[in-house]
Amino acid sequence: MSSKEIKLTNKDLKKGKTLLLFDIDGTLTKPREEISKDMIDFLTDVKKNNPNIDLASVGGAEFLQAKYQIGKVTSIFKLICTENGVSTYDSNLNIYDSKNIKDYLTEEQIQEMINFGLNYIADLKIPIKRGSFIQFRASTINFSPIGRDCSHEDREKFVIFNKEHHILEKFKEEFDKRFEKKYNVSVVIGGQISFDLFPTGWDKRYCLRFFKDYDNIIFFGDKTIPGGNDYQIATCDDITKGIHVNSTDDTKVKVNQILQELKKIEEN
Ligand SMILES: [Mg+2]
Repeated sequence: MSSKEIKLTNKDLKKGKTLLLFDIDGTLTKPREEISKDMIDFLTDVKKNNPNIDLASVGGAEFLQAKYQIGKVTSIFKLICTENGVSTYDSNLNIYDSKNIKDYLTEEQIQEMINFGLNYIADLKIPIKRGSFIQFRASTINFSPIGRDCSHEDREKFVIFNKEHHILEKFKEEFDKRFEKKYNVSVVIGGQISFDLFPTGWDKRYCLRFFKDYDNIIFFGDKTIPGGNDYQIATCDDITKGIHVNSTDDTKVKVNQILQELKKIEEN
C-alpha cells in the first residue's frame, strides 16, 4: 500500500496556538544519524520567524539516542518526547514525565514474550546475526533479528534482505497472533532492523497528553503506513493534521507549506 492511499488526519487549521510535532528518524535526521547543519538552520529560522509556534519531537528511541541525534536543536523545542513520550524531557533536557512498562506488565508476561522472541530469533536463518537481539527499555521491548550490535554495513545488508524476505513483518505477525489480545500489547516496526512491543496506546499517540492546550497540532513523520511507527498518531483524531514526509528535505517543504497556510489564516 502506498502512503498516498492512506487517509491521514486532515482537519482545517484554526487561529491560535500551534505545535509542529516531528518524528526524528527519516523526518528531522537520516535514520540513526545526527541532525544536519542545514536542518538546524531551518528549524532555528522557523522558530525565530514564528515565535508563537512551538516545536517538539517524538521518537521511539531512548533519550541518549535522541540527544545524540537532535541535541543541537532541543533548546528551541518545547518538549523532547523520547520512547514515544513515555520518557519526556524539557528544552533544558531535564526530565518532564516518565513511566515504565514494568508497571503495566507482570514479570511473567514479560518473560513469556522475551522467551518467545529469543526462540524465534534462534530458529531464524538470515545472512548476518550479531548481538543485542532484545533491548528492554522503559516504554518498549525492542526485538531485532540481526541484533543491535550490527555494523552500519550489516544493517544495510539486512535492509535489502528484509525487503525481499519480509523477516521483520513475519516476526511481527507471530507476536500479533500470540500476544496482541492476550496482554493488550502492540507491535510496531519502527526502524530498519527491529520492532517494538509495548502496551497498546503507548505508540506515538502517548505524547499527545502533553499537548492538550494547542489549537493546531501538526505531526510530520516518514512511517505513516499501517504497521509503521507514525501510523497511529498520523491518523488519530487528537491531532489537526498528519503529514507524510519522504525525506528530511521533504520535511522542510511540507513545514513551509503549513507555515504559509497558517499565515493566511492569521491574516483573515
Ligand atoms: Mg521515522
